[in-house]
Amino acid sequence: MRYWAYFAAKLAAAAAALCALLWVIDGIWPAEAHPPALAPLRDAPKILAYNIVVLGWFLLCAGALAAIVFDQRRRCRVCLRRLRMPLETGSWGSMLLSGRPRIEYICPYGHGTLKEEELRISGIRTPEWTAHDGGLWEELRASGKESDNKP
Ligand SMILES: [Zn+2]
Repeated sequence: MRYWAYFAAKLAAAAAALCALLWVIDGIWPAEAHPPALAPLRDAPKILAYNIVVLGWFLLCAGALAAIVFDQRRRCRVCLRRLRMPLETGSWGSMLLSGRPRIEYICPYGHGTLKEEELRISGIRTPEWTAHDGGLWEELRASGKESDNKP
């Protein structure tokens, strides 16, 4: 729930900033109260400049949405921190034995692991999130203690 609330908050913040920018653009080029059916040629440079600015605004919106989605996919589902320590598993040479190569990211506090395909050639697949019940670091610490006790 917290994960999706954070996503919605980022979308709302971006929408507010981009709407404010559109409001500024509309202030520079105000809409006519009674526009003609066909745009007169004498206004062509003005209309062209307006269309280029609105195109830039649209591209900015698309880029902001892509950046928000990309950032959200790489966040921990529990604590919302960025996932770290990318680990490449598998290889294309041994694909028949171990499957396609993947990249695994892990939460620095051990809440879970995100596994995603290294190369997406068959459409969009949702990355696989595996939650850990807090025992990941305990397990690693226990294996470290066992190795310390050995002579
Ligand atoms: Zn976490």
